[in-house]
Amino acid sequence: TARLHGKTAFITAAGQGIGRAIAEAFVREGARVVASDRDAALLDALARDTGCAVEVLDVTDAAAIAACAARVQQAHGPVQLLVNAAGIVHAGDVQACTEADWDLAFALNVRAQWHTIRAFIPGMLEAGAGGRPRGGSIINIASVAGSVKGVPNRFVYSTTKAAVVGLTKSVAADHVTRGVRCNAICPGTVESPSLRQRMQAQAAAGGQSLAEVEAAFVARQPMGRLGRTDEIAALAVYLASDESGFTTGTTQIIDGGWSN
Ligand code: NAD
Repeated sequence: TARLHGKTAFITAAGQGIGRAIAEAFVREGARVVASDRDAALLDALARDTGCAVEVLDVTDAAAIAACAARVQQAHGPVQLLVNAAGIVHAGDVQACTEADWDLAFALNVRAQWHTIRAFIPGMLEAGAGGRPRGGSIINIASVAGSVKGVPNRFVYSTTKAAVVGLTKSVAADHVTRGVRCNAICPGTVESPSLRQRMQAQAAAGGQSLAEVEAAFVARQPMGRLGRTDEIAALAVYLASDESGFTTGTTQIIDGGWSN
C-alpha cells in the first residue's frame, strides 16, 4: 500500500543523510518527490537511484527559495508535503561561537525553514475540491539537542534547534483549522555523512583516536548504537501521511532513549 499516493513532496537537503532517506521513503510510498540540495552531484545520484525530480537549491538564499518554489508548483501543482531537513552542526560553547557561526547556523537551520514554509503554504491553503483547503503536512527536522536536552559543546546548534521547535508550534497553531499540520522531528545521534565528518574532525583535533571518538558517540546513546536514517524516514512517512491527521505542533523524539 502506498501511504503517500497522490501527494507531492518538496524536501530540502535531500542529497544525503536524513533528507535523502526521507526522499527515498517518500518515493517508495508513492509520493511525487522533488528533492533539493545545494550539491548537484548528490542530487544526480539520488535522481538516478529513485527517479525523483531534483532542484539545486541553497536554502540560505531567500530569492532562490522563492524562485524554486514557484518553478516547482508551476511544474507539479501544489505541494502537500514539505520537509525541512537542511541543517548545520557547529561544535563549541558560548565563548567559542563566532558572529559568523551564529549567522550561518540561524540562516541555515531556522530562517530557511521560515522561507520554504512561506513559499509553499499558500498552495496548501488554496481551495481544492469542495472549497476545502488542499491541506498539507510540514515536517521540520530539529534535534533533541536544544529544547529537549542540553548537550555539551553544541551552543549555537542547540539554540537554533530550539528555535525550530518554536517555529513549528507557531506554524501549527496558526493553521490548525485550515488543513495544514506542522510537526518537528527531534533525532538523537544518527549515522550520516556529516556525523562521520564530525567524528573525523574531533579525532584530528587531537586527544582521541577515531575509534575512541566513535565509541564516545555510541556510548551517549543508552541503546548502545546510533540511529539509522531509515528509522527517521519511517517517522517522517507517518507524519506526512493521513494516518497522523490528528497530530500537529508536536516534537517527535526519536533518540534511542538519549533524553529519557
Ligand atoms: P548531513 O549533514 O550529512 O547532510 C546535509 C545535507 O545538507 C547535504 O546533502 C548538504 O549538501 C546539504 N546542505 C548543506 N548546506 C546546504 C544549504 N545551504 N542548502 C541546501 N542544502 C545544504 O545530513 P544529516 O546529518 O542527516 O542532517 C540532516 C538534518 O538532521 C539536519 O538538520 C541536522 O541538524 C539534523 N539532525 C541530524 C542528526 C545526526 O546525528 N545526523 C541528529 C539530529 C538532527
